[in-house]
Amino acid sequence: MSIQDRFCPKCGKPTENEGFCNECQVSSTKWYSCDKRAMSTHCPSCDAIKIQSTWTDSTRERAEIAPDLARSAVHLHPDVKKAVIDVTVVDMTVNRSRAYLEIQGELYDKPVHEKCTVELVWHKEQCDRCNRISGSYYEGVVQVRAEGRIPNKYEIMMAQTIAQQTEDNLQSGGERLSFINDMNEIRDGLDIIIGSQHIGTLICKNIIAKMGGRYTTHPKLVGEKNGRQLFRITYALRIPRFQKQDIVLSRGRYAEVDRVESNHIRVMDLSDGMFRAIKDDDVERIVGNARDSIEAQVVFSDKDIIGILDPDTARTIEFKKFAWMCARPGDHLNILRDGEQIIVVR
Ligand SMILES: [Zn+2]
Ligand SMILES: [Zn+2]
Repeated sequence: MSIQDRFCPKCGKPTENEGFCNECQVSSTKWYSCDKRAMSTHCPSCDAIKIQSTWTDSTRERAEIAPDLARSAVHLHPDVKKAVIDVTVVDMTVNRSRAYLEIQGELYDKPVHEKCTVELVWHKEQCDRCNRISGSYYEGVVQVRAEGRIPNKYEIMMAQTIAQQTEDNLQSGGERLSFINDMNEIRDGLDIIIGSQHIGTLICKNIIAKMGGRYTTHPKLVGEKNGRQLFRITYALRIPRFQKQDIVLSRGRYAEVDRVESNHIRVMDLSDGMFRAIKDDDVERIVGNARDSIEAQVVFSDKDIIGILDPDTARTIEFKKFAWMCARPGDHLNILRDGEQIIVVR
């Protein structure tokens, strides 16, 4: 049979095809379908979006989501090529929008074109994370304390910042349930209430990396869920007794802490400017921290003596000048008080 002898069994026109001609193929093919409704579920508190049964954080606005949501209602026959779907969205109410779709493409080399309307439903549902937070669900507590003393304001602030950064990193990495439920400053330090054990471990490691110290974990059985035992973990974190810039008194000499090691500290001796190591046990007491020092003006300075103006009494006080103190009249030195004693710190 030659090509010219082929005829479409439907319309009788000559065709190159074995069966129906292209036009009849197009008209007998259901090339698209359009769902009447498409639903988007989002969390009203944090804007997370639920896709199938999984929550994902999103920064996309409703206007951005709407066209994609509308397109997801359209199902095309696999033979449709070069499909383009134009979407116009009209918001009806807070919970409803209407999307007008124009679908264009090619089917068996013939252009096809259709219109449909999709009802967009904006459904609100509290997400897994907000649900846990509002239900005060938690998996552990990081207790930030200091060895043999109470952490100061600066340390509490630093621990808070590190904890928040840890949370930010985990959240942007998609670990939605690694959240911080609450942070409470208490007399002894800081309690960080956490949503997962992973964030607890990471907060401890990150704080220790910056501030030193160590932590131990103490699990406590709190119940059972679906045959699994539920534990709540206390992360007892102890930052070291000493911290950088502490002024300590050891064997009658003042020294400033430069580095904290496991059982000794590296200090700069404030009387000779030399660096040395002191065993923790050889520290008589912590006088203060150089961060809390105040400025005092240098009145005069010669080879061995330096004179500063005591900001409290306006009297001039003389010191033996050490090599590390480079000061000219008019300059300022940082001082710290230890009772009657004035200490010039770095
Ligand atoms: Zn035909
Ligand atoms: Zn949420």
